[in-house]
Order: sequence, then structure tokens, then C-alpha cells
Amino acid sequence: MYFSKSFIPILKNNPTEAKIKSHQLMLRTGMIKQSSAGIYSWLPLGFRIMKKIEQIVREEQNRVGVQEILMPTIQSSDIWKESGRYDDYGEEMLRIKDRQNREMLYGPTNEELVTEIFRSSIKSYKSLPQLLYHIQWKFRDELRPRFGIMRCREFYMKDAYSFDISDEEALHSYNKFFLSYLNTFKRMDLSAIPMAADTGPIGGNLSHEFIILADTGESKIFTDKRIFEVDSSKTTIEKNSLNKLRENFEKYYSVTDEKFNQIEFEKNVPEKYRLQTKGIEVGHIFYFGDKYSKPMNASVDYNGKKEFVKMGSYGVGVSRLVGAIIEAKYDEKNETMKWPMSVTPYDCSILPIVNKNDNSNLEIATNIYNSLKKNNIDVLIDDTDENISSKIKKFKLLGIPFQIIIGKNFNEQKIEFTEINHDPIFISIDEIIKKIKSKKSH
Ligand code: ATP
Ligand code: MG
Repeated sequence: MYFSKSFIPILKNNPTEAKIKSHQLMLRTGMIKQSSAGIYSWLPLGFRIMKKIEQIVREEQNRVGVQEILMPTIQSSDIWKESGRYDDYGEEMLRIKDRQNREMLYGPTNEELVTEIFRSSIKSYKSLPQLLYHIQWKFRDELRPRFGIMRCREFYMKDAYSFDISDEEALHSYNKFFLSYLNTFKRMDLSAIPMAADTGPIGGNLSHEFIILADTGESKIFTDKRIFEVDSSKTTIEKNSLNKLRENFEKYYSVTDEKFNQIEFEKNVPEKYRLQTKGIEVGHIFYFGDKYSKPMNASVDYNGKKEFVKMGSYGVGVSRLVGAIIEAKYDEKNETMKWPMSVTPYDCSILPIVNKNDNSNLEIATNIYNSLKKNNIDVLIDDTDENISSKIKKFKLLGIPFQIIIGKNFNEQKIEFTEINHDPIFISIDEIIKKIKSKKSH
């Protein structure tokens, strides 16, 4: 892709309305555009990142055996009246009437709808567990939408639901999500800590929030630093292994402010390990037993007896993650953002010095572009006639991890190649490909 033909509307200055880094940078680099309060369009650069995040989330759901479906954004109020939440949900729910005067709503979450889908087809305990997820837009009419896509009204979420026959089986499902979330965030180069959380309006018995440390986060957290060292790499989805994993995390005191208790904190955490800071919630898992299955009559036959299924729900803020990654990865010292290789919109930029009446550097750039493309490396060529230092600056602002500079006296064996915030090196195209590929596979 040539930069001159791309739709990346970069602003000259930081937009004054944005209070936090991610919001500033997302507007500045043309990743998003506000369409009305708390509602955004995603432009190509931002959309590419979100799609990569979505794909990682999807792969990690599939890996632990969750099946993908797609439910609509618009739901009927009937099922919400059955569960009793139509009134409870309050003003965050956007309520709509269709032309037949039926009460509809834009889904803020999908417990009711998925329970309705489940109960209409699954009749026997032999079909359990059922683990279902979808990745779909949600709408919550937040009182104070702010910080761009971090707390907006329309947002993109992965939500999953589990159906089991007993508490024990349901906790096994819960633990599968616990592991899959750790793996999901790790692939984005994020360290997300599972914290015991309040169950809030969704209600229930057991809940963890997955939090990324960031000063601009809205969640206050209190944690034992040793939790960062817990290793999940050898965990399998077998019951004992998963139980052990959760035990290893739960050994360490780690809560959000809703659950915080000063006395317990001081009792459980030696002073040198105490950490009190802020974070961004990127995922939330709940176990709530028969809270919805009972009022909505979702049951299975268990040896001639009717049993209400035990349910959990599991959310990841796919669109919020785009901002959360910026908040976590922005390098204050160098004033740069470098996207993790797994989600970067482009792996590499090619920046030729473009002279009037001389296309040779642009031709070289196009040849290199083709070689990289053949190796599945995503590239942008800056074919504009801006000077080279402003091109370098621009791509640093965009956070593309690598730059190839085509200048005077081009030498095939010694191409100028820079990783953001490192000194340039001079290597051949094959070596460049090898380098980028090895970073991609980490
Ligand atoms: P919060 O406490 O931030 O309002 P929540 O507990 O209401 O979140 P859940 O219902 O658990 O959120 O939703 C799952 C995930 O969806 C959250 O972990 C978060 O990443 C994301 N999310 C929730 N509300 C918003 C929002 N208004 N804008 C963007 N993402 C959101
Ligand atoms: Mg909320």
C-alpha cells in the first residue's frame, strides 16, 4: 500500500479534547473518528489493529473448545422481562420501538438471548458442557462516555457463555476461560492480572477482572507484586491443572477497590510486595449458577430429573484493548508508541527519499515491498515527496515497529534498517526479512 493512497488522516497536533494518551494518539493518527458522543467510526489503521486483536481473541477461545456463533445486536424485550432485568438494567439500556410498536433494545450483553437459544435446543445433560461465544457490537448508554473508545457507548466485545450440569463442572468451564484469557493477553504482549471482583449488576458467586496496569486506568487496584511471577505456561485444560493455576493466582491478595479491605491487605501482603495503583479492565469473567436459567427455565434432563443448568459469562473488551495497549505500551521517555508485533497494523514501513524527476528510489522501494509481501510481511511505502526526516517522524508517530530507508547511494547489501527506538543497522533484504519474521513469531 502506498501512503499517498491510504486513508490515514494524520492531524498536525494533538487534539485538545483528548485527555489521555490513547485517545490523543488514536485521533491524531486517524485510527478513529467520533461520529457522536461515545460513538466512533473505525478508520483503516485502527480497524486493522482491532481486527488483529479480535483474531487473537477468537483463536484462544477456539483453543479451549468454545464454539463461535453470532447473535444480533437488536433484541426483543420479552426475554429480558423473563429474567427480570428489563427494569433492573436502567438507563444504560438503549430501548427502541419497532413499527409494530414492539419493545426492542440494543443489546448491552447477551445472557438472556443465549439462554433462550440454549433452552430451545439442548435437552439432555449429555450435551453439556456447552460453551458459546460471539464477537459483536454492544451498546450501553454510559452516563459519562470518556477517553475515546475506552469508555464509549457503542463498543466491540467478545462475550462467551457456559452451560454445565453442576457447580463442579461449571467451575471447570470457568477455569478454561481463566486460562484462555491469560493466554489471550499474553499474545498481545500485555500482562493482565486476574483480580477478585465484585459481581455487580450481573450478579453471582465468583468473578475475576483482568486488569492491565496503567496510571490512566479507571480501576483502583491493590495487589501483591508476586502475582506477576505466576507462571501459566505449563497449564493444560485438564481439571487438576486448571484448579492448580487458579490456586496459584489466588494465593496472592489482589483486588479492585470494591473488594478492598485495608486490614486484610496488610495482613496478607508483606510491605515490600504491596502495590497500590490503577488499571484498565480488559476482561471480566463471572460464575452465576442458575441466576438466569431458573427464571428462564433453561433445564436439562438428568437421569429423569429436571436440572437447571449452571451458567457463567465471560467478556473481553476487544475495542477497549486497542486503547489499553497504547496506555500500557506508550514510551513516555521517547514519546513513541511501538505496536506489539502481534497486533501492529503494519510490520514495516519503507521510506524512500523521493526526488523530483527521478523515480529510482521509489522503484527500489517497490521491489523491496514485493519481496516483503511474498514473505507475509505487511508494509506501507511512503511515496509522498515529504523530506525524509518528516517521513521518519510520521512513521514513528504511527508506531510501525520497523523502518527501511532508501536514500542516496543505495546498496543492496547494506540497506538502512531501523527498529523504533534503536540505532539503524545496515543489512541485506534477506537479513531484514529474517529479522522481522523472527520478531513476528515470538
Ligand atoms: P466497566 O466496569 O469498565 O464498566 P463492566 O464490568 O461493565 O466494565 P463487562 O460487562 O464485564 O464490563 O464487559 C466486559 C468487557 O467489556 C469489560 O471488561 C470491558 O473491557 C469492556 N467494556 C465494558 N464497558 C465498556 C465501555 N463502555 N466501553 C468500552 N469497553 C467496555
Ligand atoms: Mg460497565
